[in-house]
Amino acid sequence: MGSSPTAPTTRVMNTYARLPLEIVKGKGAWIQDLKGNNYLDAVAGIATCTLGHSDRVMNWYLNKQLNKIQHTSNLYQVPEQEALAAWITTHSCFDKVFFCNSGAEANEAAIKLARKHAHQVRGIERPVILTAEAGFHGRTLATISATGQSKYHRGFEPMVNGFRFFAYNNISSFNSLLAATESEGPRVAAILIEPLQGEGGVNPGDVVFFKHLRECCDAYNILLIFDEVQTGVGRSGELWGYNKLGIEPDAFTLAKGLGGGIPIGALAIKQKHDLLCPGDHASTFGGNPFACRAGLTVMKELERRNLTHHAKRMGRLLQELLTELVKSYPEHLEGLRGWGLLQGLILKKGGLTAPVLVKQAMLEKLLIVPAGLEVVRFLPPLTIKPCELREAVRRLERAIQLLLD
Ligand SMILES: *Cc1c(COP(=O)(O)O)cnc(C)c1O
Repeated sequence: MGSSPTAPTTRVMNTYARLPLEIVKGKGAWIQDLKGNNYLDAVAGIATCTLGHSDRVMNWYLNKQLNKIQHTSNLYQVPEQEALAAWITTHSCFDKVFFCNSGAEANEAAIKLARKHAHQVRGIERPVILTAEAGFHGRTLATISATGQSKYHRGFEPMVNGFRFFAYNNISSFNSLLAATESEGPRVAAILIEPLQGEGGVNPGDVVFFKHLRECCDAYNILLIFDEVQTGVGRSGELWGYNKLGIEPDAFTLAKGLGGGIPIGALAIKQKHDLLCPGDHASTFGGNPFACRAGLTVMKELERRNLTHHAKRMGRLLQELLTELVKSYPEHLEGLRGWGLLQGLILKKGGLTAPVLVKQAMLEKLLIVPAGLEVVRFLPPLTIKPCELREAVRRLERAIQLLLD
């Protein structure tokens, strides 16, 4: 006990490789550290702070809610939950919403719904959910099992049964997995997939591939479930990621951007899949008045300020600026991929790596985030201004120059 030289300097568990930056406050697309340095924030709490930091309207509504009531539980009616569900369902192809606290939890709810649908509607005894390689669905046991990346499984085996993987955007890989699985009798309950793979390297979904998924799901009565934890809430330049693909899923999950930085997750479904009954699924905190007030404020402000359209325009500007940068450093930069304000700058193999560039950018007072070793991701608040995007790319260029010197 006491202070040996090896005593830990932190009492927080060592689950994160944190950068040495202590953030004390933020406003809009800017954050400030302990020493008073200002950073341009193109991470926005990993695509969560939709309206930017400490937004005036958000603060006003959250303060008002704190003075009214914060938490009551789902033993009682929650009017704020009803209001947020009403907003989501009138602005999407869905009819019903379940609220929880995170993306992984939203996917857990989706997985349970898919299994219940398979058992109850289709009489499948051992349902299988098909998901994509390089996907990401969260860090709980079922959601790492659903995540087609072995690095998230290692050390935590055995995985939860009932997930099989196909190559993203690859029709023949998907077809052979579907055929192999269905050859054992009806087995496939659902396809769980991101319309654009975020953590997996910013890979946008292909329209033809997703149309094919929709057709197969219709033919077999398989649920098509989109994980829109990262792509939802205006981030893609459309309100929902599925708007980019010209098809409607049977259900989708939301989290990240929905609460504007307050923890909330949601599963939204079409009426005909409303199968979960009292006792089937629950959450103590899920959809509490404070979190739903945050979600409702984000959605209403998105609408009032036309932020989805703004995200589309700013996404185009960011693409132009980054394309110029790629042209200036053809030996080190491969290109870019993305939708709206979810853009990935692809680094050439064998040169700069994403974690190194992210660290150097931080020294240049720009926050960006890796998506794997070869992609750096831009996820700024949807409220970001053109001059701020220009400044962000200037800072990134300085970071690249310094690393190449
Ligand atoms: C971040 C993310 C999750 C996990 O969300 P948590 O809130 O961290 O549980 C799941 N799916 C996708 C696509 C994500 O980007």
